[in-house]
Amino acid sequence: MLCIAAAQLGIQTVTVERKANCPAAAVSHLHQVGDWNDPAVLRQLAAQADVVTLENEFVNAETLAILETENVRILPSSECLRTIQDKLIQKEALQTAGLPTPCFRATDSSDELQEAGSEFGYPFVLKRRRNGYDGKGNITIKTAQDLKTGWAVLDGDNHPLFAEEFCPFKAEIAVMVCRSSSGQTVVYPVVETVQKEHICHIVKAPAAIPASTSAQAIRIATDAVSSVKGIGSIGVELFLTQDDQIVVNELAPRVHNSGHYTIEACHTSQFENHIRAVLGLPLGNPDLIEPAAVMINLLGDAAGPSYPSGVCEAMKVDGAHLHLYGKDQSQFGRKMGHLTVTGNSMESVMSRAESAAKKITFA
Ligand code: ADP
Repeated sequence: MLCIAAAQLGIQTVTVERKANCPAAAVSHLHQVGDWNDPAVLRQLAAQADVVTLENEFVNAETLAILETENVRILPSSECLRTIQDKLIQKEALQTAGLPTPCFRATDSSDELQEAGSEFGYPFVLKRRRNGYDGKGNITIKTAQDLKTGWAVLDGDNHPLFAEEFCPFKAEIAVMVCRSSSGQTVVYPVVETVQKEHICHIVKAPAAIPASTSAQAIRIATDAVSSVKGIGSIGVELFLTQDDQIVVNELAPRVHNSGHYTIEACHTSQFENHIRAVLGLPLGNPDLIEPAAVMINLLGDAAGPSYPSGVCEAMKVDGAHLHLYGKDQSQFGRKMGHLTVTGNSMESVMSRAESAAKKITFA
């Protein structure tokens, strides 16, 4: 989606991924196959580009730092990525910046894990510090009896873990902030994200929250992104607590699933603004074009070939904008595409989006 946005502006992209037939290969000008943690592979990529950016946070920050010493322009920077890709360091940075987060602590041993249980009470959430996504890498520890199993499931002996107090939120909300290398910042509307089994399922824009709560979420999200010196479109995931307080869950240093709706629903998408931001171009208007939008993720139903069924039926739904990523294999819960519906009322766009989404399956 970044490549598509770039192409529309007459900007050429070179992508690198481990596989030749990955979704980006179909839409970039040049595709390079290789390991994006190998400095030699990245050097080859960088030699062809004015600026290097990323669309996942798992690229090794140390590798990117090596390239920066060779004057490769990488945005967001390796420093930003180093802070965000370790969730414990990320939380410490947010706390240092005075931003609200759930209480957290390192759990480097089973003794420290037990201390977390005494400190936070039960349930609490145990997380891997690195490489978690879609809830993979998290486990809720319900009682002291779960401590040992939780440690084993997350393989705490080989992966650093940390613990977080359980936040009994009434909603999960998110804000996309886009900061350009020339200092301009734009903020997208606050959205509500609905997760199923820790995977983002539905995004509703705007979130049905009071204007004062929305203003507070925007303030916190903007400060969070500046505190990590984020450049480009950065996702800020927030919890809205029972008493309407806002707590930062985590940052994603890249375009984010909670911003996919912006392609059709906003004057300028998160993807286009990301491209503009890393090139130092003026940022576009992030506001909604119509009063309401809903995005639904289309998830794999089972492992197997990724050919979707029901596409024609979904296309018959008025105003359903369908995006199929062209991933070659489906997996249960894998994000295979999404669809967005925009309109005048949340009720109407939700019902159309749900009716289109349920027609599509990936066997
Ligand atoms: P990932 O990087 O896998 O998306 P997150 O840390 O965002 O991991 O957690 C995934 C989901 O787990 C969140 O969207 C939320 O629903 C739930 N979750 C995470 N942390 C907490 C917490 N401290 N309290 C309650 N629920 C949580």
